[in-house]
Amino acid sequence: PFSGHFEIYRNIVVLLFYVVVWDCSRGRSSKWREMLRFPHISQCDELAKSIERDYYSLCVKQPIGKKLFKLFCESRQDLQNYMSLLDALDAFKTKSDEEREEFGLRIIQRFLSSEITFCATESVIVLLLIRELHQYLSGEPFTQYQDSLYFDRFLQWKMLERSPITKHGFRQYRVLGKGGFGEVWACQVKATGMMYACKKLEKTHVKRRRGEAMALNEKKILEEVDSRFVVNLAYTYETKHFLCLVLTMMSGGDLKFHIYNVGEPGLDRDRVRLYAAEVCCGLMDLHEKSIIYRDLKPENILLDNSGHIRISDLGLAVKVSKGGTVKGRVGTLGYMAPEVISKKYYGTSADWWGLGCLIYEMTAGHPVFRAQGEHPQHREMENRIQRKQEDYNKKFVKSVKDLCSSLLIKDPEQRLGCGDSGGNAVRSHPFFYTINFRMLEAGLVEAPFQPDPRLVYCGDVQDIEEFSPVKGVSLDERDEEFYSMFNTGSVPISWQKEIIETNCFSELNVFGPMGSRTPDLDQ
Ligand code: ADP
Ligand code: MG
Ligand code: MG
Repeated sequence: PFSGHFEIYRNIVVLLFYVVVWDCSRGRSSKWREMLRFPHISQCDELAKSIERDYYSLCVKQPIGKKLFKLFCESRQDLQNYMSLLDALDAFKTKSDEEREEFGLRIIQRFLSSEITFCATESVIVLLLIRELHQYLSGEPFTQYQDSLYFDRFLQWKMLERSPITKHGFRQYRVLGKGGFGEVWACQVKATGMMYACKKLEKTHVKRRRGEAMALNEKKILEEVDSRFVVNLAYTYETKHFLCLVLTMMSGGDLKFHIYNVGEPGLDRDRVRLYAAEVCCGLMDLHEKSIIYRDLKPENILLDNSGHIRISDLGLAVKVSKGGTVKGRVGTLGYMAPEVISKKYYGTSADWWGLGCLIYEMTAGHPVFRAQGEHPQHREMENRIQRKQEDYNKKFVKSVKDLCSSLLIKDPEQRLGCGDSGGNAVRSHPFFYTINFRMLEAGLVEAPFQPDPRLVYCGDVQDIEEFSPVKGVSLDERDEEFYSMFNTGSVPISWQKEIIETNCFSELNVFGPMGSRTPDLDQ
């Protein structure tokens, strides 16, 4: 009989162990539910009055808003079909080309009367359907939604999203790298367990080097961009000594490290192709918002743990008017385009040149116009960029060579990517023939190389010195004004994605039986 009991106790202990481990592995604080406790609905009055009642923002763009609007529609018999159609259309976007035709046809058969005969492709029909659908949903359903308990719940989530952010909301782990104004640390949000990289800017260093405008520029640009191929900003906050940007965690190291410190210099062709395609998409997402990146080079391209890359370090990026140009010798010398060096006005052409330099370096295993380890004088480097024809060694097959030489055309008017179709011309280049850009943008392409999670892909952490305040620099009211512009807390879309991805949404967003409000709502 004893051994029988023992078995039971042992199983309970093992079970408890797994529950604890499972909970810890998600990294949430044991107090996470209190941290994310909904405010009473009466505390949302101000927000309800001030929030802009824009259908697209509230029900399409914001991830939690989209979920709650969907729950509302599903709760209404007459809207259920619309939601199934919207789901099917969302699924259509993520189907491979082979599956698309049949899937598209099934949607049409299921939701549209069969008498309608279409002479358009499935993709066009889908686009039309999506537009019609939103047109309808933004009318009466959207009005009703705003009077429902689902919208109340949205406001409660928004209040949580807007709670003040301090360093106490995060755990700090190890240093990931060093920047001009401070270190970048791995950190974790206590309430959700989400990992991020925290880029810290030491306040007196920023002030001494007049970096305020640059820091604010970087923050504003990061906040505006929502791209799979550019690091996202999740939070900004400040401590006594630092301004902090909390960014997508990229734990696989930068491309400079991968090109030079892992095996033979250079990368194999499949990796070059994927990284080049992803950088191309990232540039197009930036250019669409009239942002010129201006600092493309291997060390600014970071890998995540699944082996995909993102563009990072947007300190030199600049927002121009639509199709506009800027002047200014900005960037890193070896990677500056001829028109940037010669102090002309330039637009997105500078970035397509940068992509040429990047593809060249990944393939050749050394920078363009420079042998590895060679550091020519400034004038000499400028001269080579403006006049010299680049050499191609035997690692370049025809398609890569052709792509590089089209991107490295000195005259921006003639350069690939600089015509009316912009980056689409780059994507259409034969080198990218095997890349399905639609799948790539949907995150459905597997990377040819995954970083080993046990390895650290960066220089020795010991080499990274501590950042301490500069003596003799004092902070005053003017600085506070700048800090208050910088520290705006959570970035809505990133925060909502975090809440959903970490399952906090599904665990907390419960409604009582028969759609009644939960105790949380009524307390
Ligand atoms: P700076 O603008 O001062 O040059 P960076 O943004 O380039 O600062 O960051 C400095 C270093 O920190 C990078 O070279 C990289 O090693 C590391 N780093 C920056 N952002 C991230 C990130 N999102 N994930 C992981 N490491 C990062
Ligand atoms: Mg940098
Ligand atoms: Mg920078």
